[in-house]
Amino acid sequence: MPFTRFLRNLRKGHLLGIINKRSHFRDNGQAKVMYNTKQSAQKAADKMSQKIGTHFSNYKCIWCNGYHLGKNRENKT
Ligand SMILES: [Zn+2]
Repeated sequence: MPFTRFLRNLRKGHLLGIINKRSHFRDNGQAKVMYNTKQSAQKAADKMSQKIGTHFSNYKCIWCNGYHLGKNRENKT
């Protein structure tokens, strides 16, 4: 497989992950908690990580233009 194609696939997968509805909605269909700034999302992620003992990350959401927290499984990039 050509290297450029590999890169394109990577980018495609990345985009699909972000556009996926699950980046904005929980499993139960309700919207996730939204943070207005990267800073507040980062702070909340740190707190959640300490409380639950799992790594949480934060990412910008294209659905609501805010930030959400996610576990690694949901946000690998
Ligand atoms: Zn959202």
